[in-house]
Amino acid sequence: MPSAVQDCVFCKIVAGDIPCAKVYENGSVLAFLDIAPAAQGHMLVVPKKHYATLLDLPPDEAEALMEGLRKSGGALRAVCKAEGFNCLQNNFPAAGQVVPHLHWHVIPRFQGDGLLKPWTPVSYADTGVMRNLAEKLTRYMQA
Ligand code: AMP
Repeated sequence: MPSAVQDCVFCKIVAGDIPCAKVYENGSVLAFLDIAPAAQGHMLVVPKKHYATLLDLPPDEAEALMEGLRKSGGALRAVCKAEGFNCLQNNFPAAGQVVPHLHWHVIPRFQGDGLLKPWTPVSYADTGVMRNLAEKLTRYMQA
């Protein structure tokens, strides 16, 4: 077994070697409560197989993950009476990823709960700069 997997806390949770408060499981996805939640009910939705970031995820695994997210959000609305929920996903340490096993945070939200967006908006010098960047990204993504 590669050491990234051997040392991975979420792989250990998937294998049952570390306990978790499990809330949902399908063939390829596990959802459990975050141990240090932003709010009660905050879940983590993870693929059972080890992928470090979203860039490593095979496209055919995406549908099961999306279903895990959809069901988790629905459960927070129904059970925790959440008025809304955020699905957040960090890739690489610069973006705040601490556990290098792909995961989504599903966080219950309430009007006025005081949780903040993790960014302050910046601006483009002008709309030409913005359009130019959009074109570069399009060329890369369509190649
Ligand atoms: P991230 O910063 O996106 O990598 O988030 C990692 C999340 O994993 C954090 O919110 C931690 O609280 C959570 N976490 C780490 N270890 C465990 C664990 N054993 N059980 C549940 N949640 C965990």
